[in-house]
Amino acid sequence: MVAVCIPSLAEGDLDRTDVKDQRKAYWQRLEIKECQQKRRKVYSQRPEIKEQRIAYQQRPEYKAKLREYRQRPEVKKHQREWGKSYYQRPEIREHIKQRMKEHNQLPEIKAHIKERRLKYHREMKLKVFEMLGGAKCVNCGCEDFDILEINHIDGYGKKEVRRLGRSLYEEIYLGRRKTDDLNVLCRVCNALDYLMRKKPESAKRLKIIWHPHTN
Ligand SMILES: [Zn+2]
Repeated sequence: MVAVCIPSLAEGDLDRTDVKDQRKAYWQRLEIKECQQKRRKVYSQRPEIKEQRIAYQQRPEYKAKLREYRQRPEVKKHQREWGKSYYQRPEIREHIKQRMKEHNQLPEIKAHIKERRLKYHREMKLKVFEMLGGAKCVNCGCEDFDILEINHIDGYGKKEVRRLGRSLYEEIYLGRRKTDDLNVLCRVCNALDYLMRKKPESAKRLKIIWHPHTN
């Protein structure tokens, strides 16, 4: 706190120019300004003042006025520019990054992100299967979506799958990867396809039949 000493004034002194200047200079002092700021902050944080403020802001006429103010082109422009420069500030960017990191660590958020990612991948997979002729194994007719996968007709797909992982689906969907050497097989038929290339004699003795559950 700053010790403040105001000399006592006689009547009429307040109109004197030098007193006016003195008072002005006093309020311009940095420490006084800071002190005022602090006091204002403490005051505005008082529960009853906070409540009053919230009640005032809830009034329909206040809301309408605010809405009208925010709709003004010059205010909109100013807001946009201010927002841009604000979010470009390194400390703000760092702060947001940190907050996002913390937010994404919350168990419910983590679960939500995982669920969304799975949903996205599932939709992508379905689109890609449609591009390849449908979500159905071309060998046995299996339609069990969860065990269907992309097969490289000429083999050697492992390398690409290892390199791209799930983004192989994205590459196909976005047209960045050709599709004429791919088809859809179920995991079991894909294994047989592999065996056919490695040990054709053994593979020829096997036949895969899919029994869809009807109940
Ligand atoms: Zn199959």
